[in-house]
Amino acid sequence: LDKPDNTHDLHNRTASMNMRGEEFRILGRETVDRIAAFLDRMPTGPVTPGEKPNQVRALLSNNSLPDQGTPAGQLLEEATRLLFEHSLFNGHPRFWGYITSSPAPIGMLGDLLAASVNSNVAAWGLAPLASEIEAQTVRWIAELIHYPAACGGLLVSGGNMANFVGFLAARKAKTPWDVRSRGPIGPDGQRLRAYVSAETHTWIQKAGDLFGLGTDAIRWIPTDSALRMDVSRLRVAVTEDRKAGDVPFVVVGNAGTVSTGAIDPLREIAAVCREHDLWFHIDGAYGGFAAALPGGSPDLQAISEADSVAVDPHKWLYIPLEAGCVLVRDREILRSTFSYHPAYYHILEGEEHDSPINYFEYGPQNSRGFRALKVWLALRQAGREGYIKMMSDDIRLAQELHRLVSAHAELEAFTHNLSICTFRYVPAGVTSGTEQGEAYLNKLNTELLERLQLSGKAYLSNAVIGGKFLLRASIVNFRTSLEDVEALPEIIVKLGREVHANGCEA
Ligand SMILES: *Cc1c(COP(=O)(O)O)cnc(C)c1O
Repeated sequence: LDKPDNTHDLHNRTASMNMRGEEFRILGRETVDRIAAFLDRMPTGPVTPGEKPNQVRALLSNNSLPDQGTPAGQLLEEATRLLFEHSLFNGHPRFWGYITSSPAPIGMLGDLLAASVNSNVAAWGLAPLASEIEAQTVRWIAELIHYPAACGGLLVSGGNMANFVGFLAARKAKTPWDVRSRGPIGPDGQRLRAYVSAETHTWIQKAGDLFGLGTDAIRWIPTDSALRMDVSRLRVAVTEDRKAGDVPFVVVGNAGTVSTGAIDPLREIAAVCREHDLWFHIDGAYGGFAAALPGGSPDLQAISEADSVAVDPHKWLYIPLEAGCVLVRDREILRSTFSYHPAYYHILEGEEHDSPINYFEYGPQNSRGFRALKVWLALRQAGREGYIKMMSDDIRLAQELHRLVSAHAELEAFTHNLSICTFRYVPAGVTSGTEQGEAYLNKLNTELLERLQLSGKAYLSNAVIGGKFLLRASIVNFRTSLEDVEALPEIIVKLGREVHANGCEA
C-alpha cells in the first residue's frame, strides 16, 4: 500500500499542547514559587478585594475564543496574578463563611500529582494503584468516624452528591418493587416518602426532584428548641403515611446541620428506623468527622448505626475542593444501586472480598478523577491525632467566640454547636422582641453582613433562627488563631455602629 504524501508532519509529531520536561520544570517552578509566596502573604492581607461583578468581569478580556494559541508561561503568569489579586480567599485565617475550609497545602500538591498520571478511577484495570488508594482512603475515613470499615463507599464531588448516593441506596434497598426499572411509583400507585428535619440542607429537595419522587415526597419533621428533629413527630408521620398506603423508605439524621451545627437525636432516630424497617441515612457533611473526637456526643457515636453516611472531606478534613465521601454499610447494596453490565466494558470482576473494585459500579459517575490522592495524603500527613487536634481547636475557638460575643453589651449570642457560633448586633437603645425592633435588627444585620463581606476584614455568612437574621461564624480553618477570633467583636460592632448611624432606619 502506498503511503499518502500528506503524512510527513505526523512523523515525530509536535502538538501545541505538549510540553517537554525542561519547559515543564521551568514553568512549574515559577508557578510553585508564586503559590508559595501567596501562601506566606495571604494571611496578612484582606480576605477578599470585595469587587463588584462588573469589576471582576472587566478583568477578563471580552474577546471571543482565541484562534491562535498563547505561550504557556505568559498564561500561567497572568492566571496566577488574576487569581491571587481578585479572589475570595477561603484559606484566610479570618474566613468563616458557609462551611468551606482552608485548603491543606499537601492537597494542592496532591491534585497536581493526580493530574500528572490522570488515572481514570472508573475501573481497576484503568487505575490499579489509584483504585487501591481510594479503597484505603474510604476505609480510613470509616475508621476515623468509627463506622464499620468493611463498608462500601467512594469519593464523590461533595456533600450533595454523597447524600444523593445514600438516598439512592435507601431507595433501592427499601422500595418493595423494582424501583430501578419501574420508577418511583408503586404498582398500586404507592408513593415513596422520605423523612428529614426542617433544618436539613437543600440537597434533599434536589434529590426528591432529580430522582423523580418529587419534593412532595419529603416529610419535613419539626425541630425542638435546640433545632434537633422532634422524634415523636417523626413516629407519627411515618405511621400516618403507612396508614395512607404510602411507602416510607428513609429517615435522614443530621450530624451537624448546615445552619447551626445541631446534631439530631441520632440514637433515637436509629431506633425508629429499626422499628419501622427504614433506611437510616446520616448527613454528616459538616459534622460527621467530629465523631472522631474522643468524648464526643453519644449521638455522634450513633453514626456507626447508620445504613449510610455522607461526609465531606472538603469541609472538616480541609481538603481542597472537591472531595465528598459516602459510606454504605452493606457494600452489595451500594453496588446493586448503580451496577449495570454493558457490553463495552469487558472488565475484571470478582465476588471475593479482595477482588478488584470497579468504581463505576458503585456510584453515578463513569470516568472518575483521582480525588482520593489528596485525601489520602492529608490523612497520612496529619494522622488521626492531627485531625483530632485541628478539629478540637476549631471547636474551642468557636466556643471562645461565643463567650466573647456573649460578654459584649452590643452583641447578642445565639447558638454554639461544634465549630459554628451565631450572634447578632444589637445597638444600644434598640429593643429586641417587639415586631418593629426585630424587623429593624434583621435589616441592620443584613446590611452589616453585606458590608462585612465586602470589607475584607473577616468573612461570615448568616443563619435565620425563628425569623431572626443572625451572623454566623463557622470555623473550619486550621489557620485561625485566638487573635483572629478576638478581633471579630470590634470589627462587627464598629461596622454595626456605622450602619446604625448611617440611616438603616426602621
Ligand atoms: C455542606 C453541606 C452539604 C452540601 O455539601 P457540598 O459539599 O456543598 O455539596 C450538605 N449537608 C450539610 C449538612 C452540609 O453542611
